[in-house]
Amino acid sequence: MAKDEMPKSDFRDAILWHLTYTLGKDPDHAQVFDWRLALSHAVRDRIVDRWMASTRATYRADAKRVYYLSMEFLIGRLLQDNIVNLQLADQAQAAIESFGLDYRDLLLDEPDAALGNGGLGRLAACFMESLATLGCPAYGYGIRYEHGLFRQSFAEGRQMEAPEDWLAQPYVWQFERPEARFTLGFGGRVVTRDGKPVWEPENFVQSEAYDVPVIGWQGAWANTLRLWAGRAVDPFDLGRFNAGDFTAAAEAEALARTISRVLYPEDSTEAGKRLRLTQEYFFSAASIRDILRRFEADHADLRLLPQKVAIQLNDTHPAIAGPELLRILHDERGLPFDEALAITRACVNYTNHTLLPEALESWGEGLFGELLPRHLQIIDRIDAEDAKAHPDRRNAARGEGRVRMGELSFILSNRVNGVSALHTGLMKTTVFADQHRIWPDRIVNQTNGVTPRRWLHGCNPRLSRLITQTIGDGWVGDLEQLQALEPHAADAGWLEQFAAVKAANKADLSDWARREHGLTLNPQALFDVQIKRIHEYKRQHLNILEAIALWQEMRENPSADWTARVKIFGGKAAPGYFFAKDIIRLINDVAGVINADAATNEKLQVVYLPNYNVTLAERLIPAADLSEQISTAGKEASGTGNMKFALNGAPTIGTLDGANVEIRELVGPENFFLFGLTAEEAEARRAVPDHAARAVAGDPRLKRAIEAIRSGIFSPGEPDRYANIVENLTGADYFLVASDFADYWRAQREVDFAYADRDGWARMAALNVARSGWFSSDRTIRGYMQDIWNAKSLLGQE
Ligand SMILES: *Cc1c(COP(=O)(O)O)cnc(C)c1O
Repeated sequence: MAKDEMPKSDFRDAILWHLTYTLGKDPDHAQVFDWRLALSHAVRDRIVDRWMASTRATYRADAKRVYYLSMEFLIGRLLQDNIVNLQLADQAQAAIESFGLDYRDLLLDEPDAALGNGGLGRLAACFMESLATLGCPAYGYGIRYEHGLFRQSFAEGRQMEAPEDWLAQPYVWQFERPEARFTLGFGGRVVTRDGKPVWEPENFVQSEAYDVPVIGWQGAWANTLRLWAGRAVDPFDLGRFNAGDFTAAAEAEALARTISRVLYPEDSTEAGKRLRLTQEYFFSAASIRDILRRFEADHADLRLLPQKVAIQLNDTHPAIAGPELLRILHDERGLPFDEALAITRACVNYTNHTLLPEALESWGEGLFGELLPRHLQIIDRIDAEDAKAHPDRRNAARGEGRVRMGELSFILSNRVNGVSALHTGLMKTTVFADQHRIWPDRIVNQTNGVTPRRWLHGCNPRLSRLITQTIGDGWVGDLEQLQALEPHAADAGWLEQFAAVKAANKADLSDWARREHGLTLNPQALFDVQIKRIHEYKRQHLNILEAIALWQEMRENPSADWTARVKIFGGKAAPGYFFAKDIIRLINDVAGVINADAATNEKLQVVYLPNYNVTLAERLIPAADLSEQISTAGKEASGTGNMKFALNGAPTIGTLDGANVEIRELVGPENFFLFGLTAEEAEARRAVPDHAARAVAGDPRLKRAIEAIRSGIFSPGEPDRYANIVENLTGADYFLVASDFADYWRAQREVDFAYADRDGWARMAALNVARSGWFSSDRTIRGYMQDIWNAKSLLGQE
């Protein structure tokens, strides 16, 4: 083999060639890491041709492009996903094994790119994959954080945070694009020149583009995820260096780099920080420039923009993209204000992700005006135009000294969508009730989905194989075909195979937990899993209270016929969210006591796996028997974890919240363990004086569990360690843990009973799989293409 004979046809040779010539490694001395990079390069080569063909097809068709702006893309590992979508798995495995290496070890060697906090970022990643699968010309725009979400470990049960370092190794999936560099201004002032406002920024940074190709299922189409990094306009001050001030010489560079240094580890309460607003403007403004550059390369008439460009704001973090587009159209390109406003509004759409009032983003107008003085004026002008057209309107973008990003996004959008039927309905009656009255057609629903390539085919190969043997392989690209499994759920022989898949997945998880964490899990037990961000509304504390009560009852009545359970938790708390961190510590403390109790630990274990991320989700979900989706009704916008579990044959115990409602409708109420207050009842319950104290007084089990925490048996020598939690549960209890406890307990005992009937359980689990096809993100993206973007697939034209 020689350098000028880069082998394309033989995959094994391609890996060897890259190992030798791209990485400069002698195969005799290569480590797993080197082989993994060589394999990645060989896979990447296969993506690039299709990527370019897709881009060429888009230009040729002069097609409308979709731009998905998101502060977060929780993409996780890409090697396996790319291999799966290119259908190279068998070839890759054979090649790697022929070198005497373990294929899975190699896949697992890749760092998990955690450029997001949780559901919102993972949704963006699933959407990118589905956009490519459907052949919709699209770009994702985000930030290339040097440090993604922190790495979590526990010390005496407490969450410890360490910086994450996904870029410490070469990242094969990115292409640097020095040609797509933009200079962005911040601060300064607005002056009037020739009767026109002119923004004179004070500081400047450059945006640097890194492109990650995203290949769809079967490799038919590839799109681009463009991630921006900050760099200084003049990275190096030679004058200062020569004067001997070496630190100051590189100061500008250090400051600019700060913009893309860290992901804010916060998914609900916004850190009111200048840097955060700087990040938001930075990536939104760079993206808008890129979008206009691409449009103007082929079109002279800016009024055509809405026909060629659809911009989707994933939550309000990129909301400033609207005023930025308007500013450029009006200030820089000279369109009249109302025309610029109309064009902007026809291009921009906004996805709302939360109804929690504290999570609706707003900025103090002092900070906002300092950083973006011209944008503040533009927002006032938008408000004024709006007030003229709708004199009875109440929700201006600017008010009470703040710039309100939800209101701003709504006013500037063509369509505004919620992410589940329940959430969209609540948007119309709560946060956006006034806007909905004025613009009754603007709010639409697009229930979230997950990509079946990663969340079933890739992460659960055994189940994938069984499904394909049963109904063929069309389901991977058309998930509703899973319905064809339904008749097999009545076939005892098939159900046995189905149950064997779950058992093998559980055995795998147990092996890994032993190797990695020294845990011994009882694989016969029901694996009861709650994995997600730690938040009061998600109610991990309800789950751990039930564990305590169950343990107490088992101790009291050890000979009863208890269903053995392993309660598995995973999830990170925002570093500044102290209540959530207390919940983490409580779970770990309770686990320590319960797992050490020889009287019960055959029947009940509590396990908290550290550092929940995409990779851990892929490991846990295929092995789960029960999916915990127990948020306070009215608080979870949709959830996507709930969909992944159902799709992998774990029935849900859950409230009528977010997409749980739709999951229950589709899988059938008899295959879903429902409990708890409805959103409406929850609102009413909050108005009842002392609702929590009453619930505790009326439920001896709950009372005893809370007493146990208060007594200090989980925190020896420090009985008031959880005083905060106890006080909350018996006092304000805004999230209604006490009110929902009794019904949760009842539903859990129904689960015990149902699980004891193994055949019945397998049927229920199989029906969850067969009826979850609607939760594919392909279905969601088709909805956006049709109802929001008016975008067309170019499949077959590449
Ligand atoms: C799917 C997913 C989420 C979202 O989970 P929810 O239960 O919907 O909150 C968060 N983090 C990771 C790593 C995920 O894969």
